[in-house]
Amino acid sequence: MRPLEPEAGERHQFGRLALDHALAYLAQIADAPSNRPADEVFARRLDPEFTETGRDIAATLDYIATCIDAPGFATTSPRFMGYIPGGGLFHSALADMLAAVSNKYAGFASASPGAVRIENLTVRWLAETIGYPEGAGGTLTSGGSVANLTAIVAARDALDGDGGGAVYLSRFAHHCIDKALHIAGRAGAPRRAIATDAHQCLSVPALAAALEADRAAGVRPWLVVASAGTVDTGAVDPLAEIAELCRQYGAWFHVDGAYGGLFALCDEGRAKVRGIDLADSVALDPHKTLFLPYGTGAALVRDGRHLAQAFGATADYIAPLGDFGVGPSPADMSIELTRHFRALRLWLPLQIAGVGAFRAAQSEKLALARYFHARLAQLDGFEVGAPPDLSVVAFRYRPHTGEVDAFNQRLLRHLIDEGRVLLSGTRIDGHQMLRCAILSFRTHIEHVDEVVEALKRAVDVLEGDGGAE
Ligand SMILES: *Cc1c(COP(=O)(O)O)cnc(C)c1O
Repeated sequence: MRPLEPEAGERHQFGRLALDHALAYLAQIADAPSNRPADEVFARRLDPEFTETGRDIAATLDYIATCIDAPGFATTSPRFMGYIPGGGLFHSALADMLAAVSNKYAGFASASPGAVRIENLTVRWLAETIGYPEGAGGTLTSGGSVANLTAIVAARDALDGDGGGAVYLSRFAHHCIDKALHIAGRAGAPRRAIATDAHQCLSVPALAAALEADRAAGVRPWLVVASAGTVDTGAVDPLAEIAELCRQYGAWFHVDGAYGGLFALCDEGRAKVRGIDLADSVALDPHKTLFLPYGTGAALVRDGRHLAQAFGATADYIAPLGDFGVGPSPADMSIELTRHFRALRLWLPLQIAGVGAFRAAQSEKLALARYFHARLAQLDGFEVGAPPDLSVVAFRYRPHTGEVDAFNQRLLRHLIDEGRVLLSGTRIDGHQMLRCAILSFRTHIEHVDEVVEALKRAVDVLEGDGGAE
């Protein structure tokens, strides 16, 4: 057996090996495929998987490189533009290590006033970024799904304690909203599917009509969910107009801004998500739009007291807290009690790179999406629709002959198998579409050009097949 506390020399050696591993990984990203087959995962095993006496660290790191780092999607690749790309800032990786080493207890101000102060400063910074006033509250979560759940529970406790209130959302709402309603015990709430307009945005007249019909029928409007950037096309709903309707009808206005909300940091993006500050609650995903590694979302509530009311708890084994002058304890604003000190992975890159680096990277992504849209629009056969609101471009190719949906499925498969650029697909209005989501801090114009070239190449090959199946 090896000691659970390695001695200083061994710690140094482990640390060096792990850092070398990380640096070697980073060094190959630029050229590595964006998707690699999983053969190794099944071909190689550690035997036995778990030992009683421990195993050599170099051999273990080697297993990680071959069987974990390599196979599947390389979400770190500059050519990964599938789904909503996750980032993976190196500063954040180091912050995670530092947070785990000191293992500060970030749930309570009494236990770790410094860490809690950073959590609250970071939440405050996010709130200011979307234009929330003083008095807003929030909590860092594991991601957008839990952020949406957290906000919906706060909305339930604030306005729908006894149930029966109606929910309004468009068909482009992310499926995690359904999960959240289910977990919050509101799966059976009266539910109104609100029509969308030609840009896939929630229709304000349709929402107004649904709210009015419910009021006339004696059904209480409870929750309106809008998107600041849908997953499918990046469309931003008309937030300011929806906010006004919610005010008139006394409904809670929740904005799912997991993808798009944090574009409020840059000037062009702020104009796109206009009205987000009028929402009662907002879900954000710094692991998307602030380029962090997976595992960081944020739920913000305009009046922070609603979060404290939903999640504040006291128990005998928790010492009287007192006011430490660093703001609320995260445990009182969150589903969680003990938690990873998440704020450090956002705070550290903001400190070291500066806020301006994030603004510039976001502006670049928005410009790249417009550029990609313009380039595709010039190519024969590609249908691109309106210019993108944010950094997702949905499109399809219309082949000379044969079935359009099947062709686009083959086109996507071809790109994924080729392993250079990784796009994803979706169905819109019954049509198979391809999506290019540009949101990695590593993606620059040459990578977007590469997507265009890969599409041209693939179309040539597939049209050469005569479109035959
Ligand atoms: C990604 C996303 C979610 C879910 O967030 P996770 O971090 O994956 O849990 C919800 N809504 C939208 C609009 C998203 O883009």
